[in-house]
Amino acid sequence: MKVLSVASECVPLVKTGGLADVVGALPRALAPHGVEMRTLLPGYGAVMDALEGAEPLEVDLPEGRVLGGRAAGLDLFVLDAPDLFAREGGAYLDPEGRDWPDNPERFAALSLAADAVGAIWGADVIHAHDWQAGLAPLFARRRGGPSVMTIHNVAFQGNAPMDRAGAMHLLPEDLSGEVAEYWGQISTLKAGIAVADAVTTVSPTYAAELATDDFGMGLAGLIRHRGADVHGILNGIDTEAWAPPYGDPAGKAAHRAALLAEFGLPDTDGPLCVVVSRLTLQKGLDLLLQALPALVDQGGALALLGTGDVAIEAGFREAASHPLVGVRIGYDEALSHRMMAGGDAILIPSRFEPCGLTQLYGLHHGTVPVVANVGGLADTVIDANDAALRADAATGIKLRDVTTHELARALHKTLALHRNKEVWTGIQRRGMAHPVGWDVSAAEYAALYRRISG
Ligand code: ADP
Repeated sequence: MKVLSVASECVPLVKTGGLADVVGALPRALAPHGVEMRTLLPGYGAVMDALEGAEPLEVDLPEGRVLGGRAAGLDLFVLDAPDLFAREGGAYLDPEGRDWPDNPERFAALSLAADAVGAIWGADVIHAHDWQAGLAPLFARRRGGPSVMTIHNVAFQGNAPMDRAGAMHLLPEDLSGEVAEYWGQISTLKAGIAVADAVTTVSPTYAAELATDDFGMGLAGLIRHRGADVHGILNGIDTEAWAPPYGDPAGKAAHRAALLAEFGLPDTDGPLCVVVSRLTLQKGLDLLLQALPALVDQGGALALLGTGDVAIEAGFREAASHPLVGVRIGYDEALSHRMMAGGDAILIPSRFEPCGLTQLYGLHHGTVPVVANVGGLADTVIDANDAALRADAATGIKLRDVTTHELARALHKTLALHRNKEVWTGIQRRGMAHPVGWDVSAAEYAALYRRISG
């Protein structure tokens, strides 16, 4: 079974979010299930620099050529199109932080390449990730190739003005409301959802939420229409890359002390809460700014690492004047590992969360997740309510709603549970024992590929 995975990000080469972790982990997770997965990426500078043994493929594409090769332990195909991808700036943003104006064409070119590579490599299935690869199922369908469309976040839909259709290789029949047209525009994600043989998203609860108007962001009707073709398959984590540097929660002490020192925080009896996140409204961290007194007034501390919206960044910079609040505005992979090891709890009050990876890193490190009860957070954390505590089942603390008041309540509860060392250690140990790897989900993807390639 050969599967071509098509995406715009892949760890450790290029990453802006959880998509990259998943794309990077899938090939190794799927190999034991008889799936040979190769990944097609845009030829960003960082990807081209890392590519070894590059060989051009015999494909004829308008925008560039495709190279096969290896990088970072992965078998890759790379769309080598310097005009589109070899630029100073980010994967989607120019150096000033604005979307590249030709993003629709850049990623339509990637999707077109996917079909050509799939045909020549002999892929049984094309697996497209998010809006950047949303047209890949559409192009694959033209020659009858089976495809899977995975929604990592429905908030990003790849919208483009209709007059870009030609440059995006779309044909008049693709532009109907049943395919790529969305409120007078082109939506690449919609096209992928509409035509792929199967649609997946990254947790069962998010799959159910996507069919509701509150969470579907305009695509709920289409999701409902796809019905039983929509599957929620939970993300796993790379348990090797994210192995805690200790086997028992007691081993945290040295890492906690080091993290307090690194953030310039005093030692405190209260829990050291960490946040590693994009700072956007999705993540609900504006509510944390409001709810912070509930934590710090009782001796809890906060160490936050993140970047994102200017206003939320400014809010945390200001909050850092409190002696128990430490803030790093920026992106720092190595620090994120030290925070998982040194934190007592990790706060994730997201308004919506397709899967979420940081609660899984937290569980694996005995860093107790305090989470909104949405999406993958709902599926992966067991709330420390009275029944779950009595049954020795709890692995974290859940908010009932995503409000400042509820977050403050959850923080009070965190402080109270943390005071009871026996109960707290039990929650940590169960979290560390909770399966967060890829075994189950990889088997589900493999079964799905087999079903649709029939
Ligand atoms: P999303 O994809 O919505 O951003 P996820 O929880 O699925 O959320 O994945 C986020 C990933 O990005 C995690 O691997 C997390 O550790 C990482 N991350 C987010 N912000 C930062 C940051 N400022 N520094 C380092 N890693 C970060």
